[in-house]
Amino acid sequence: MKKFPQRTVTRAFMYLRALDSLIEEGKAYVSSGELAAMTALTDVQIRKDISVFGKAGKPRVGYDTRRLKQLLEEYVVQNVVHVVLFGVGNLGSAILRYPGFQEDKIKMVAAFDSDPNKVDKAINGISIYSLDKAKLLIQKKHVEIGVIAVPKQASQQIADLLVSCGIQGIVNFSPTTITVPKGIFVKNIDLAVEFLSLFWDMNAKKAPRYA
Ligand code: ATP
Repeated sequence: MKKFPQRTVTRAFMYLRALDSLIEEGKAYVSSGELAAMTALTDVQIRKDISVFGKAGKPRVGYDTRRLKQLLEEYVVQNVVHVVLFGVGNLGSAILRYPGFQEDKIKMVAAFDSDPNKVDKAINGISIYSLDKAKLLIQKKHVEIGVIAVPKQASQQIADLLVSCGIQGIVNFSPTTITVPKGIFVKNIDLAVEFLSLFWDMNAKKAPRYA
């Protein structure tokens, strides 16, 4: 498989999401300008990215939505990714309810929680289990990614558990760093940090410059 920079791959997923809604609306063609408006990227960026993936555009007509979707999928979509979630609190429940996970791409297989009041229930059809069921289920369902949404004191314990179950990709929503062995991929999403760094950027732009 051809290797692309992570940022290009992230943008490719944004184009795919936009293309899915265009196809749903019955649009056969889309211009780079329209895609730019839908993704909040520039049309120059879009043309540059798409030319890397292959030829899908016609001058003055735009990109064939289905053809472009197919092209992007050839590069960035592999098999369905199977995901489990740990910690069915406020954030974890919201993730389980999130409608943006399309079953043909991301399959939320199960959720786990240490609170006995939360287990043996289901959210959005996804069953919640006690932690002792994790290893068997993860291996039986060929889970590739684990999501951590437990409080920060418990996140390392869950990361260790995920690694011991053979999981190689972790999305960490807990507001702390986790340590994992080499070869394990981790994406840290600390919502508070995202908000504060955006606010910092906004203020840095406004701040007066001193000579
Ligand atoms: P809630 O209001 O349901 O408590 P919250 O998001 O405020 O939600 P947190 O304290 O962040 O709660 O915990 C998130 C979830 O993680 C809770 O459902 C909790 O039971 C669960 N949890 C805590 N420790 C562990 C652990 N070690 N393993 C698995 N789940 C855990």
